[in-house]
Order: sequence, then C-alpha cells, then structure tokens
Amino acid sequence: MNITKDFVVEMDYILTDKNGNVLDASEKGEPLAYLHGHQNIVPGLEKELEGRKANDSFKVTVTPEEGYGPKRDELLKEVPKADLSGIPDLEVGLQLQADTPYGVQVFEVTEIKGDTVVLDGNHPLAGEELNFDIKILSVRVATSEELTHGHAHGPHGHHH
Ligand code: ZN
Repeated sequence: MNITKDFVVEMDYILTDKNGNVLDASEKGEPLAYLHGHQNIVPGLEKELEGRKANDSFKVTVTPEEGYGPKRDELLKEVPKADLSGIPDLEVGLQLQADTPYGVQVFEVTEIKGDTVVLDGNHPLAGEELNFDIKILSVRVATSEELTHGHAHGPHGHHH
C-alpha cells in the first residue's frame, strides 16, 4: 500500500538540526503513528512520505518554511517584570501560557533585562532546518473514528 490521504503511517524517526544534534527521536519499539493528509506532521516531511510504503527508509532535509515556519519577530514581546510578579520562579527557559486573540499560546522567557522580560512565542523549532531520518514500519487505511478525530489511534486504530 502506498501512502496517500487518510492512511495511518507508523514510522521510526530521528530528527537532527543542521549541526547533527539530535532534537527528537522515536523511542525504540514506540514508533510515531500519524494520519496522512491531515497536517499532523510538518508539510515538508508529509510531502516526502506521499507514495512511499512499509519498509522504505529515507532521509530528508526540510526548510523552515516547510517545517515549523520562520522565526517571527512579532512573536517576541518585551513586558515589564512587574506584569509577571505572580510568577514565583521567573527565569530564562521558563514557559508561560497566555491567552491571546488566537487562543492559548506558549511563550518562553528568553531574556531578563533589569525590569524587562523578553518572551518568545515562536515554536522552539521555528527557523530551524530539520533533518529527518525515517523508517516506515507500517501503512494501513485509517478507521472511521480516526478520520472523525483527525489523528491516528495507535497500532490497531483503538482509542488512546
Ligand atoms: Zn482520537
């Protein structure tokens, strides 16, 4: 079976950045299952998977534009430290959730400059080139429940 829309694909993957550092990888024996054609994974990788089949292995480099998007300056915000006085352990690397007009968004504290805190709402992998090393383990037709939910439900289509 060749991968196309509404198929569930199970795969092992290793994701590295352009310097070869491992950013993410599937655990041994716990492959990633996703529903093809429903934007469950980044567009550049989904495009490469189209038409492939079980046991295929391949590597692909995905640009930021086809990955998590470019870093956007408008998602960098400087706020007065006083506005965050309710947060006890304010430090660089802390992730905060904020309500925005577009829903809940995660911001990471990237800098504390005196009385000002810099928050970054970009995806942690925005602006990054992504190198995927993929091995496809299985390909099957999605169940009707998976199609209704818009995501895969593990090896046999049962709900999580
Ligand atoms: Zn579900």
